Order: sequence, then C-alpha cells, then structure tokens
Amino acid sequence: MKKNINGKTKIIGVIGKNIENSLSPLFHNQIILKYSLNFCYLPFQVAETDLSKAIQGIKALNIRGVNITFPYKEKAIKFLDEVEESARRIGAVNTIVNNKGILTGYNTDVIGFKKSLQENGKFIIKKKKAVILGAGGAARAVVYALLEEEIEEICIFNRTLEKAKIIKQNLSSFFPKSRISVFPLEEEDLKDKIEKAHLLVNTTSLGMPPRVDNTPLPDEKLFHPDLLVYDLIYHPVRTLFLRQAEKARAKIINGLPMLVYQGIESFHLWTGLKPEGKEVLKMIKRIT
Ligand code: NAP
Repeated sequence: MKKNINGKTKIIGVIGKNIENSLSPLFHNQIILKYSLNFCYLPFQVAETDLSKAIQGIKALNIRGVNITFPYKEKAIKFLDEVEESARRIGAVNTIVNNKGILTGYNTDVIGFKKSLQENGKFIIKKKKAVILGAGGAARAVVYALLEEEIEEICIFNRTLEKAKIIKQNLSSFFPKSRISVFPLEEEDLKDKIEKAHLLVNTTSLGMPPRVDNTPLPDEKLFHPDLLVYDLIYHPVRTLFLRQAEKARAKIINGLPMLVYQGIESFHLWTGLKPEGKEVLKMIKRIT
C-alpha cells in the first residue's frame, strides 16, 4: 500500500493491548486511499500502566482521534474530557475524537453490532430472547444495542458475576421495561436459557490468539439449529465456537461486519466522510 505522508498528514489510530492481529489499520488505510485523504491510521500497542499517558499523548501529538480496543474500552473513560451520552450510559468507549485539545469519547460498537445483525444476520431484535456470554466493554455495547431495539429478554453469563450485575444495574435504569438476568458461566443455567434463545453472542475474548482452541461454552451440545450464533471475534475468521455452532446447523456471524460498521462510524467522526458499509465489507473480505 503506497501512501504519501507529508507535514499536513492527520494521524488517527487504534490503542489496544494486543493489536498485532487488528484489521483496523488495514481497513482504515484502504478507505483513506480510496478517498485520497491526507490521513494515516496507525496501531498503538499500549501497556495498561501507560494508558493514561497514551491518551494524554493524543493531545500532545495533535492526533485527530483513535479507536480504543480490547481491553481498554471501560478503563479509557476516566481519562477523557467529555463522553457522549450513550457512551456514558454504556460505560465504555471505542472511539476518541480530539477537537482542539478536547478529547470526547463515543461508542460506535452499538451501531456496528445492530447493523451487522440486521444486514448480515437478517435478524429482527424486537421481542426476541438473547444469551450474552461475557460482561466486558463489548458486552455493554451489545446489551445496550439490544435494549434500544426492544429485545424481550437478555441473559448475561460471565465468569465474574459481579461485572454482569453491574451491567444489569446500570442499563436497567435507562430501560425500565427491560428483562435482564445474570448468571455465572456454568452449564446448568446455560442449557435452559440457550434452549429458549433466538440469539447467542460471544463477547468474551475466548478464542482469540494465542488461545484459539478456547471457547466460552462448556459443551457443544448446547447449540441448536434455531439459533443465530454471533462471535465478536473476527480473527480467526471461524473460532472454535462458530465451528461448533455451524456443526449444529445454527446460523453464524463473525465479528468482521461489526468491525466494518463500527469503523465506518468512527471514520465519520474523524473525517466527516461516511463510506458505504456493504462496499467496504466486500473490499475487506477481498483483501484479508
Ligand atoms: P474486555 O472488556 O476485556 O472483556 C473480556 C470478557 O472476556 C470478560 O467478560 C471476561 O470475563 C471474559 N474472559 C476473558 N478471559 C476469560 C476466561 N479465561 N474465561 C472466561 N471468561 C473470560 O474485552 P472487550 O473489549 O469486551 O472485548 C471482548 C472481545 O470482543 C474481544 O475478543 C474483542 O476483540 C471483541 N470485539 C470485537 C468487536 C468487533 O468489532 N468485531 C468490537 C468489540 C470487541 P471476566 O469479566 O470474568 O474477566
């Protein structure tokens, strides 16, 4: 990929702990090339102890903005000057915009998740039942998106039950009619809830490199053909979780469409331009 960098080039990028496999740099730089913009998107691998300094560095280096990825979406909030209302309710940001030294946090994962479910899963959220595995930063956005579209019931399963309880407590106050229940990540309750669910989403990091043989479900018999099974992970393209779901004849989606749709919203916040989602998804599938 040939880029012309000069004194006027605006820098955007992604801050994360483990971003060697992130597709965001490739994806954003392709869009930048397509629109002939004088921008450049860079990966910033940041240790947790340096997160505060890295975010302050956005101002110091006059960086236009960044994505925030695993595992800093919740932790980044306290270092920002302003947080957009829905991101504040969610309690997690995946995008920072630097406007003349004021850092504002946004959460574009919500729209990314919704659009991918609608466009790629052909899934209507209203009145459905969902099981969510995980209660980290991404889970918060997923639960918020489902509540906004009036899902009937959400069951959150997480290794650390306390984190699932906090999501329930925070989001129930904004959606008083919501039905959210929380459980530890154990087989007995999973079986009952997955049997009745239409949608099963893995928002845990289990299945990401280097432990690609991990999966959040204790038994593959829990999948069934009436489920839409969604894994937020996109590298590998088919996690063990998705391979097992496919074997059980469930419909599957990986994290690539969400990455594209949330990325387009972030790109719009930094540049004012909004590329067409389906076209970008096609391009990314072609080059990866
Ligand atoms: P996070 O805030 O660090 O949350 C990680 C989640 O994984 C927590 O629920 C954690 O449980 C669980 N987990 C980690 N190790 C576990 C283990 N050994 N056993 C059981 N549970 C475990 O991360 P995040 O930002 O939510 O991201 C989660 C995943 O979503 C990552 O793979 C990320 O790449 C992906 N993601 C993809 C997109 C996309 O656009 N496709 C967008 C956002 C995120 P505890 O609470 O018990 O620690």
